[in-house]
Amino acid sequence: MNDEPDISRRGIMLVLSSPSGAGKTTLTRNLLEQENIDYPGKLELSISATTRPRRPSEIDAVHYHFVAKSRFESMRDHGELLEWAEVHGNYYGTPREPVEKALADGRDVLFDIDWQGTRQLIEKMRDDVVTVFVLPPTAQELKSRLVRRAEDSDTVIAERLRNAAEEFKHWNEYDYILVNRDLDKSFGRLRAILTAERLKRVKMPNLKDFVDKLLSDLKGLTP
Ligand code: 5GP
Repeated sequence: MNDEPDISRRGIMLVLSSPSGAGKTTLTRNLLEQENIDYPGKLELSISATTRPRRPSEIDAVHYHFVAKSRFESMRDHGELLEWAEVHGNYYGTPREPVEKALADGRDVLFDIDWQGTRQLIEKMRDDVVTVFVLPPTAQELKSRLVRRAEDSDTVIAERLRNAAEEFKHWNEYDYILVNRDLDKSFGRLRAILTAERLKRVKMPNLKDFVDKLLSDLKGLTP
């Protein structure tokens, strides 16, 4: 149920980064599901474009826009991407238009992107961006999660483990850190971050009108 007073606000860009296997994808999915129940239509996922081959469990335009390298380069060169990066030998990028529209309409956008993309978003849109870095509890747990997922070949898993070290180094560029020992706890913390960020005064440019009306109504009620 939505019990928020009708105070319009600019949307938030909530960025989640972590090495593959830290639990970020599950957190992202759970957050979208739960938020959609509590506040329908208020949080949406930014669907990235990528040149990576589709995994069997993935659906085009749901998990990613799977595009050819030439198409990706054309989007990038025509300014259609807010940020882009090469990750694990493939290109990934954030389509600009859906994000700008969502923010202007007061909807929040969730991003599952790497540290390179996060840096670019911070440079361009610092006031809109809230960043969260997800760490696994141990290195062994990270490896087990990658192996359990088993959608990637051994070579890909080995490369992802090597890249994890590179991703880890950037933890201190983020606003919030979640050490994902327990999925439920991490999920609760992630929701707390989103809730607190939504309540920031600077996110509500029309709050003055709301308070002014409260004051004038109060005057009317004062004998
Ligand atoms: P995967 O191939 O496992 O889906 O994603 C690999 C990495 O690419 C993840 O760390 C993910 O966060 C990152 N990634 C996905 N989409 C984007 C994007 O649009 N921009 C950037 N910079 N990174 C992305």
